[in-house]
Order: sequence, then structure tokens, then C-alpha cells
Amino acid sequence: MLNLKTSDTSLSEGKANLVALSHLFYEKNWSLATSSNYSIVLCKEPLNLLITASGKDKQFLSLDDFVTVDESGQLTGSKNGDHKQSAETLLHTAIASKPGVGAVLHTHSVASTVLSNKYCDEGFLEIQGFEMIKAISLDGIKVTHETCVKLPIFANSQDMVALSNQVNNKYHTLPKAFLIAGHGLYAWGKDLSEAKRHVEGYEFLLEVLLKSGF
Ligand SMILES: [Zn+2]
Repeated sequence: MLNLKTSDTSLSEGKANLVALSHLFYEKNWSLATSSNYSIVLCKEPLNLLITASGKDKQFLSLDDFVTVDESGQLTGSKNGDHKQSAETLLHTAIASKPGVGAVLHTHSVASTVLSNKYCDEGFLEIQGFEMIKAISLDGIKVTHETCVKLPIFANSQDMVALSNQVNNKYHTLPKAFLIAGHGLYAWGKDLSEAKRHVEGYEFLLEVLLKSGF
């Protein structure tokens, strides 16, 4: 069972929660073939982020498959075998260092891959008129099914410094999530429970749009 109590996350509690979440997301086909990364803020200042190590199979993710990193994405704490941080760690640290962010989740679903590619030139995907939009908590806005959410799409890049700079520059406009074209979804929340709800909400909405022929 996933028991998400992350307001004051300890290292062992954070690992256990992310392992359970990993197995769940794998079963939903959002984290196949070692894709995806999940992170939890252990300490905000200075930032210490618990994040899945690079290249781990999310179906079989274990308590040993994590590293901790600082704000610049460098490993902290004692070395854990040959575990490395993923190249995408910089996107996690860019978001996790912002006030009010407790967890960041990145998935690679079919719906997010197809739709982000299709609407990349527009730069965003507009979502409106669905009850599930209420799953998304936006700062200073009472979200209803009529709220129009503009989900930004960044061009895919292997240059994570450039990509994280783009995310930093647009952060105040982001609806607790964004897409990378042909790649996947990043979503976050004040804790792991809210971040999970945002991934589930957005993945549901993206699947609805895909199946509706958008
Ligand atoms: Zn990715």
C-alpha cells in the first residue's frame, strides 16, 4: 500500500514511498524501459534531493536504487556503489529548489509523447472542460472544470543546462507541470501525495485528449 506522509520526509520513508510509486507508475505504462525519474526534497536549504539513480528498471526499483544530490545536481552523502544521478537531475533540482515544492515526478507515457510532439510548434497544449482538471492545484486560483490550463511544451534537448534554464525562466507561469516534446511529462507538488495526484490528473487528461483525436 502507498502511504504518503511526506510533510517531514525521512530518507527511509522517502525511499519506501518512491519505490511503491515506481511500481505503480510502471504498471500504468508511464515508466517503461528504465525511463522516468522521481525525487523528494529531504532538505530545502541547502537543497538535498532524494532521486532515483540513473538507468534503473522502475518495475523492480528497490530501496537501494537512489542517490542524493545538491542544488547543482552533484552527489551528496556517502557514495552508493556505482550509482549515478541521471542527466535529467538538473530539471528536478531546478523545480525542487523553488518554494513550496516537495516532490518532482517525471514520466514517459504514450499520450504525453504523442501530444507533446504534435503540439510542439504551438508551445503549449490547452486543456479545458474536463472534471479531472480539478485534480490540479494552482496557486491563487480556484480550479474548476472550466479552468483553462495551458500546459507548456519545451523542445526536447540533451542539453539539460539549457533546458533547466528555460524551465527556470518560465517557472512562475507553469501549471505545476510541463511537457517535453516527444519525451514526457514533469509534474510536481508540495509533497509526494500532491505530485502523484498531478501526474495522475495530467496523464488522465492527456489520454482523454489522445483518445478524442486531438
Ligand atoms: Zn525523461
